[in-house]
Amino acid sequence: MNKLYCPLSFFFIFVFLSCSIHTKKNRKTGITDTIISPITKKEVVEPNIEIVKSQELPFTQSEIIADTSFVNIKDYSSDFVYDMKYATDDNFLKIQVYECAECYLRLKTVNALLKANERFMSKGYRIKLFDCYRPLDVQTKMWSIVSNPNYVANPKKGSIHNRGGAVDLTLVDNNGKELDMGTPFDFFGIESSHEFENLSEEVKNNRKLLRNGMIRFGFRIFDSEWWHYNLKNAKKDNLSNFKWECD
Ligand SMILES: [Zn+2]
Repeated sequence: MNKLYCPLSFFFIFVFLSCSIHTKKNRKTGITDTIISPITKKEVVEPNIEIVKSQELPFTQSEIIADTSFVNIKDYSSDFVYDMKYATDDNFLKIQVYECAECYLRLKTVNALLKANERFMSKGYRIKLFDCYRPLDVQTKMWSIVSNPNYVANPKKGSIHNRGGAVDLTLVDNNGKELDMGTPFDFFGIESSHEFENLSEEVKNNRKLLRNGMIRFGFRIFDSEWWHYNLKNAKKDNLSNFKWECD
């Protein structure tokens, strides 16, 4: 190898190795995910984060704040139903990890949910929310209780919930009754997967109704959980750790 090719070879080998350690293929889903490096303090604290507190923002002014700002969905609509499981001990952790029940999300996530809910309502249904933005400290607490990546995202990588782009939800009918989705929320078995076929026609139709209504407005499914939806490209937003105020 002559003097020119040798250093060039090392350069290309370095580039190849750099690329190969930043992506991985999820064996279960076949989806290639970006591996997020372990979080440093600098990444956790989102720079210039804009948090719009309740009552500060008239609905009509929503267009003047950045769509990555965190807002409380209650300030934008009274048409959602809430059952914020982690503000109670009625969850798989069996402890309350939120001081109070609020649903904060990035404005762009809220806007997409508003459109989805509007369409569901035109069909006689509405969205019931189980979980929204989750501060990174809460993710860490959940991980310390259940350190199983099948159930809880490792806080070293963070989840889309920590980025304000994920929601856990289901649909209720005009009487407020939840549609049968085959399993309860946070049921961690194969039956919760979108790929699970051994379900009644009614359950399949209910899941399809939810899935199609969410995908139509920019959400993406999470293969193993019928209730979890990520706003497209939300993975690019920063992790966050702000805490909402409770009365
Ligand atoms: Zn979720």
